This record gives sequence, structure tokens and C-alpha cells, in this order.
Amino acid sequence: MDHFLYRDGELYAEDVPVADIAAAVGTPFYLYSTATLTRHFQLFDDALDGMEHMVCYAMKAASNQAILKTLADLGAGMDVVSGGEYARAKAAGVPGDRIVFSGVGKTRSEIRAALEGGIRQFNVESEPELFVISEIAESLGKTAPITVRVNPDVDAKTHAKIATGKSENKFGIPIAKARAVYAEAATLPGIDVIGIDVHIGSQLTDLAPYELAYLKVAELTEQLRADGHDIRRLDLGGGLGIPYTRSNEAPPLPSDYGALIKRTLGHLDCEIEIEPGRLIAGNAGILVSRVIYVKEGEGRNFLILDGAMNDLIRPAMYDAHHDIVPVVEPVPGAEQQPYDIVGPVCESGDTFARNRMMPPLQAGDLVAFRSAGAYGAVMASEYNTRPLVPEVLAKGDQFAVIRERPDFDEIINRDTIPPWL
Ligand SMILES: *Cc1c(COP(=O)(O)O)cnc(C)c1O
Repeated sequence: MDHFLYRDGELYAEDVPVADIAAAVGTPFYLYSTATLTRHFQLFDDALDGMEHMVCYAMKAASNQAILKTLADLGAGMDVVSGGEYARAKAAGVPGDRIVFSGVGKTRSEIRAALEGGIRQFNVESEPELFVISEIAESLGKTAPITVRVNPDVDAKTHAKIATGKSENKFGIPIAKARAVYAEAATLPGIDVIGIDVHIGSQLTDLAPYELAYLKVAELTEQLRADGHDIRRLDLGGGLGIPYTRSNEAPPLPSDYGALIKRTLGHLDCEIEIEPGRLIAGNAGILVSRVIYVKEGEGRNFLILDGAMNDLIRPAMYDAHHDIVPVVEPVPGAEQQPYDIVGPVCESGDTFARNRMMPPLQAGDLVAFRSAGAYGAVMASEYNTRPLVPEVLAKGDQFAVIRERPDFDEIINRDTIPPWL
């Protein structure tokens, strides 16, 4: 249930016809549903009911401030992975004590800004980072709350580019080394050790890797407590997958995930944090695009859209599948034909789908890429000097542009010509 449904023969976002928004905003654009964002946040929040917890939205999935504010108003914290995300979360009104800072390469200026602006905790990924955080915190007369991100050496069984929990990945500290690192951390004057962090990957469609990882975290919690550390918070990362096709088998539900957390970690009496990104935003957003040309090739027909790989890079980057649907509802049983669906960018990689069965489409028709809300707009670029794709948020019968499409002057005027030219 994602609130992008056909009604009276056309696609709606909640109670707004998608075609009306396209007429007002122009294409391509991202379109999010408030009700879907809300529903997905609530599913996680409810799944952890009965345990002290905070759902910290991994804002790298979709970081428009209107989305952040929608979620923060429901009680969400934020998981940030850069100084820019930290500043953006603050600008959206999220207080520092609800912001968790993750990432393997936090710079000194990012760490200082977070300590000055307030931070719920740093998830520390290496010993050198630990020393730097301690030094900066001390210089500011503060202590930094930290967890250490442990790498449990678990195979998340997901796409290689988004697996993070194997020993060969750059993330975290090997779990076997964790006790030594915690012992070291406890001696540092600027550090307050509060818990453990783990995040094994993204788009997980099976709970088994989580179970393996969380059992290791449970064991480590007991060991660290026996070593004298006050482990009181467990950050369990994000990564729960979403269905990208309506036919494929359903990934686990947040409620199953919550039950697994309770079963593996509930007895430890820790505050639980989770960092879902994709499951909150993914099916809460679509990319709306218009057919520019239908081109008859040799043995295949191309649908050339005004959206391209710079607007949605997931198919090119992760071989990702997105369902692509016409905005005008096809009549039931309508004849379908195969299309290669492509954008106008000068690369063969600018291909969204090959041999995709679609009802016959014509120049000017609108299509929607489903499940495009996460890792869509945030990964967009201006490649080919195509303006950064705008974003729109729907709520009931209202919609608002939450990021304007820049005009050419705005893009071009960012360049400066050196004095010798
Ligand atoms: C990317 C990331 C997440 C979110 O992953 P999703 O698959 O979008 O849920 C959470 N925590 C960390 C540390 C991440 O890097």
C-alpha cells in the first residue's frame, strides 16, 4: 500500500492526479507521498513497541528537508553520514540530540561542527577516528558519546556495492578486535562509550543475516559489560529491503524484524536504535517522466524519455529494476509490446529497461518509475547539463514543490572564468 494508485483511469498520488502535477511542474520530477512516508515510519516505530527505542531515518536515502521534517514531526531521529547531512538535518529543525553520525571518513571539521551543534552519538569506524573525536571533544571541554561500529563478518546476501558487513568491506572494526578497541576508548578523556553499532548492508531480503549479526552483538554486549563498560544503547543499522517488482516474493516486514530484535537482544535491556532509509522512502516516491519519442529500431522499439540516468542512476549503477507504469491506466487486458526504455544522455548505460512489456505508448505520454523514492533524487546529477530534477511532496489533495528545477542560468553561472581567459 503506497498511495500511488489508479483511480478513474489515471495514476494518483494520494488524492492528486499525477498528470495535474506534471502539468504544473513539468517533467521529469520526483513525487513523494506523505501518507506512505508516515506509514513506513510507523511500521518501524510499532515494531519496536515495548522497548526503549529511536528510529533514526538514514537520510542519505532521500534528504529533502520537507521529508526530514515530515518524519521528525512523527518522532524520528536522523542518521547522517556527512557534515552536509548534519547541517541539513539541523536546518530541517531536528535537534542535535536526535542525530546519529555514521560514516567511515568523518573529517575534523565535521566532528567539530557536530560536537558544537549537539549530537546523539558518533558511530566510530576506526581507532584513528576515536583519537580524533576524543581530542576535539577535549579541546571543546566536552565528552563525545560514542558507539563503535563492529563488522560482524556476515554475508548480507545483497548486491556487492551495498554489502557492508563482510570482513573485506571498509566498514567498522572487526568484531574480534572490538574488546581491545573498547578498552582503549575507555581510557580516552573526550570519549563516553555508550553502546555498540552494526550495519551489514542494504536491500536485505532475508532476516537470517540480521540474526547472525545480532547474536554476535548480544554476545559482545555481555563481554563488554563483563569488561566494565556501560553498554546501554545498541544501534542496529538499517538495510531492510523493499519489493521492487510487484511479482517478486515479499521481503520481511518491519514487524518480523522487530520480533527478531526482541528475540535476539531484548533480554539485554538496552535502548535500541535502528537506521532504516530505503524502506521508509523507497516506495514513498516515484519519478515521473514524459515520452519524447518512440523510435523504431532494428528488431526493437525504443521509448525515449525526458528522464535519464542523471535523474535516476540505480539501473545503471546497481542493475536495479524499477517497475515503469503509464500514468493513464491501461485498459485491462490491453495488448502489450516490448520496449527498450532509455533516456537522452549520450551513453548506452542510460538504459532503464530492456524488452520491457508495456502497453503501446506515444510521444507526450507520461510514465512513472515506481519505488524511486530512495537513492533516487539524492544521487541525481547535472550530467549533460541537465537541470537537477525537482522534487514534489503530496499530502491528501495538496502538493508542493519541495525543490525547484534550476534554470540554465543558475547552473551555468556556477562556473567562473579565470582572469587569464
Ligand atoms: C545506508 C545506511 C543505512 C540505511 O540503509 P537502508 O538500506 O537505506 O535502510 C543505515 N545505516 C548506515 C550506517 C548506512 O550507511
